[in-house]
Amino acid sequence: MRRARTDTPISLIELIMDLRSRGISDTHILAAIEKIPREDFVETAFSHDAYANRALPIECGQTISQPFVVAYMLMALEVNDRHKVLEVGLGSGYQTAILSHLCRRVYAIERYRTLARLAEARLAALRITNVTVLVGDGMKGWQPQAPFDRIIVSACADETPTALIEQLAVGGIMVIPVGTSGGDQHIFKVRKTETGIEETKLIPVRFVPLVPGTAKQL
Ligand code: SAH
Repeated sequence: MRRARTDTPISLIELIMDLRSRGISDTHILAAIEKIPREDFVETAFSHDAYANRALPIECGQTISQPFVVAYMLMALEVNDRHKVLEVGLGSGYQTAILSHLCRRVYAIERYRTLARLAEARLAALRITNVTVLVGDGMKGWQPQAPFDRIIVSACADETPTALIEQLAVGGIMVIPVGTSGGDQHIFKVRKTETGIEETKLIPVRFVPLVPGTAKQL
């Protein structure tokens, strides 16, 4: 039987077509995704599924995000090449690699040292030089580098961490999944204004939880 193309893209070009058909229209984002070989970011056992539009398991019991969700969140972020961006939840480094082509500099935090080191090696192999990685608790943000023009969080929070709102520049945008672990979760777009924040609820999603502190397991 012929496989429906939109179900399981098997090549990068099929993935791009799939993303377009799901409403990802931003050509900068599609071009950045096209530059990044997702198979380099997944474990060898999942190489055959690297371009499927699915989250996949990575080391330390975490996941590499679904390409559609990465593209959707980056679209909501309204990011451009003048922006300094904080990313919480580096994971495999896949989203970071795409983001690095869309902004000036990425400051990426990961609570597992193992994941941070693997991601750094992948980014170096792709000659990406505008990413700085920190092993730590992303819920606290990265105070010495604040304020950030944009903040993107790749793990689900119970509520938007106060430190991240504080470290967002006025006029800045944060995109973050908020909800209960394993339950009802939505992407929120948070805009910081002179007088406070404006939140918009976007699509339902399923993310691993944002966990406070640095991981005990490396
Ligand atoms: N965008 C990443 C998604 C990784 S999954 C990718 O495509 O690979 C989310 C990541 O957030 C996990 O690696 C998890 O360890 C990390 N994480 C969870 N809580 C965190 C915290 N408080 N600080 C930093 N990273 C955190």
